[in-house]
Amino acid sequence: MIFTSKVGLIVGVANKRSLSWAIAQAVSLEGASLALTYQGERLEENVRELAASLADPLVVACDVTDDGQVDAVFAAIDRQYGGLDFLVHGVASADREDLARPFVETSRDGFRKALDVSAYSLIALSRRAAPLMDKRGGSSILTLTYLGSQRVFTNYNVMGVAKAALEATVRYLASELGPRNIRVNAISAGPVKTLAASGIAGFSSILQAYRDRAPLRRTVEGSEVADAAIFLLGPAGRAVTAEVLMVDAGFHAMGI
Ligand code: NAP
Repeated sequence: MIFTSKVGLIVGVANKRSLSWAIAQAVSLEGASLALTYQGERLEENVRELAASLADPLVVACDVTDDGQVDAVFAAIDRQYGGLDFLVHGVASADREDLARPFVETSRDGFRKALDVSAYSLIALSRRAAPLMDKRGGSSILTLTYLGSQRVFTNYNVMGVAKAALEATVRYLASELGPRNIRVNAISAGPVKTLAASGIAGFSSILQAYRDRAPLRRTVEGSEVADAAIFLLGPAGRAVTAEVLMVDAGFHAMGI
């Protein structure tokens, strides 16, 4: 029970397949008290149903592009728990057409939105989380990224640019927040069939490439991403920060 008496905020649960939900379940089994957010009324029922299986969760609305909603999340956590021990950022979004047409056709607006939701939001959340984490004297922030930040994957397009920005954001935040004993890391997960993934045209051929070519000859499960999250969020990861941990069955190591 490594998270007994620890409080975590999990941003990015859409449904039971969400990587953030796999992480929420894993840290909850280890004793964490959790705040979960949902983006808009469309997802509220889903998230409340899932949250009902946790012990006394706080469930709050949060569209990460809305500063007022982001402020309200941290005010609610401060009221209920008086501090925060970890934050999981599992949010990404891009216009569907930008994940299907040639990258050179990416619109200015689509680029702006993808970077805002998928990368800037980590800064917005971390800024508000840090004062609550100061009250605990040592905390951990974790985001989820993908190898498309460094390599070209057909149709990943603007999301690859957003993930490159996200990984750089991890390093800058880690550098600034480290002296406050707040660690900032990312997990670069192999492909998992989730709602976000279903927006990428041809996603099943990416899954097949991992089965054919990854050293472990398979894809990964949400629960395996969650196990790595437990390491980075918990005491075993206490000397690890500014890191992008590959949890992808080894695919990243392969050339031809
Ligand atoms: P997911 O279940 O669809 O989770 C993505 C979440 O982001 C959804 O809850 C989504 O809500 C939310 N979101 C989008 N725009 C938002 C906004 N403006 N404010 C608040 N929330 C917003 O998919 P997932 O695969 O678990 O994705 C979680 C993270 O893992 C993402 O960063 C993704 O890039 C990353 N990742 C995924 C894979 C994979 O293969 N699945 C691999 C590596 C990394 P809506 O549904 O309403 O948009």
